[in-house]
Amino acid sequence: MSPIRTENRKRYPRDWPTISLRIRNERAASRCECHGECGRGTHEGRCPNRNGQPAYGTESKVVLTVAHLDHTPENCDDNNLRAMCQGCHLHYDRDHHRETAAATRRAAIEASGQLAWEITS
Ligand SMILES: [Zn+2]
Ligand SMILES: [Zn+2]
Repeated sequence: MSPIRTENRKRYPRDWPTISLRIRNERAASRCECHGECGRGTHEGRCPNRNGQPAYGTESKVVLTVAHLDHTPENCDDNNLRAMCQGCHLHYDRDHHRETAAATRRAAIEASGQLAWEITS
């Protein structure tokens, strides 16, 4: 299962386990659906990783998860969901976390600049 942070857990719909299972088992047939969206560049075309099998390249056991392409847990439209192995999912989210962190830093810098301006003027 994907690690869902506590503050995000309540944002998932009540039937998320059913949706997640349907995407992973029925639509994806237990295979990672990433076609390079993860950006890690380790697979050409669709990722070959299958749930419960040794992962391509690392041999660790694949745990298929379901990623939200727009990182919005409320948006459970099929088009927004991708079954992803943990490698693809973590890498996909890492880019997003980096952007979020950068935006937070920018806001903090702007806020401190504003503060400095208020103190000196
Ligand atoms: Zn994958
Ligand atoms: Zn991938």
